[in-house]
Amino acid sequence: MNNPDIVIIGAGISGAVLAERYANAGKRVTVLERRDHIAGNCYDYIDANGILVSKYGAHLFHTNYEDVWAYVNQFADWYPWEHRVLAKVDDKLVPIPVNITTVNELYGLSLKTEKDMQRWLDANRHDIPEAKNGRDAVLHKVGNDLYEKMFRHYTKKQWDKYPEELDASVLNRIPVRTNFDDRYFSDRYQALPKGGYTRLFAAILDHPNITVRLSTDYFDVRDQLRGYEKLFYTGPIDRFFEFKHSLTDKLEYRSINFVSETVAQEYFQNNSVINYPGKEVDYTRIVEYRHFGKQEGPQVTTIVKEYTTDEGDPYYPVPNARNQAIYERYRAEAEALEDVYFVGRLANYKYFNMDQAFHNALELFEQLEGQSAVQVPVTATAEQVAAEQVAAE
Ligand code: UDP
Repeated sequence: MNNPDIVIIGAGISGAVLAERYANAGKRVTVLERRDHIAGNCYDYIDANGILVSKYGAHLFHTNYEDVWAYVNQFADWYPWEHRVLAKVDDKLVPIPVNITTVNELYGLSLKTEKDMQRWLDANRHDIPEAKNGRDAVLHKVGNDLYEKMFRHYTKKQWDKYPEELDASVLNRIPVRTNFDDRYFSDRYQALPKGGYTRLFAAILDHPNITVRLSTDYFDVRDQLRGYEKLFYTGPIDRFFEFKHSLTDKLEYRSINFVSETVAQEYFQNNSVINYPGKEVDYTRIVEYRHFGKQEGPQVTTIVKEYTTDEGDPYYPVPNARNQAIYERYRAEAEALEDVYFVGRLANYKYFNMDQAFHNALELFEQLEGQSAVQVPVTATAEQVAAEQVAAE
């Protein structure tokens, strides 16, 4: 192995950003990627039906970080995409996050104003200002009936834990709206990269100073690596330390089994993502990829059912006190290492969104090297932030 200045383990968001930053600073960078492709879990490709699909689940980019937005705009053109999700509840399709429409549809009401909705929520929710866990968080926001219908079983399917066994932060990802806003996210910038994420990552990694070695497991080649200045590890932290603190207490991860089907019709469902929060099916959601970017083409469509499991590639750390305590033992070891840095969702054992992963990697580079990543003052576009939200509605 030629002697790089910087070694990066993993070609996902954190690895790609650090590779690009160091390459631009004149360093020779080697990225080692265990899989046979770049882009980590953002990896997408054109499938046999001619549809751009994501191998590891839909990735919806949204951010309020100006620096992240400016950074990603250097490597792709982005088109506005406001994600919306419907949930199948009581045989109806209703918006999630809960908004006025959700309540009207499920309870046969005709609430119209924010005040109406606030009154409905006040009559139903429980007052638990200091939520100790995910159950408290949802009860505090919407009360028991919506908790049962939309959150309890979905969470059990997703995590194999009930909300009371998880940190409040997991369920607090989903807001409650007192208006008709049915967007999944509220961030200023919501967009997808034209041509897909794999192309975006290829552009980030396209630099003469960067060598990417695919299908190369760091743990198989670590003895051949020497003389580097810094190593950035983006894989699961427990694996780095050969699971030494996990003999009795295993750090938990959730994985997803993606079951793809071709359906011989133009559209299978009327939205990109439909959640199934009930017990009647085992999957959590069905994603129909042709909706993203309104992909036109043949009269067949690809749908993917998501079943979460505890076997397989680790995708989600499982945020609760027990896992945090185990993680802290690994983190203490990680901090004692010189010139080795742990970055990203798996190495920090934290449920980051995509933009947080970009932000953290950019920030780490700045901290270590004192150089700002973003010289390009993009700000706006993604069609000028969807024409400034259609002139603020
Ligand atoms: N959740 C739920 N019902 C839903 C959607 C989400 O109970 O219809 C809960 C569930 O516990 C989930 C969490 O909210 O893990 C966060 O949802 P998000 O959509 O952010 O999860 P991700 O897209 O990252 O899987």
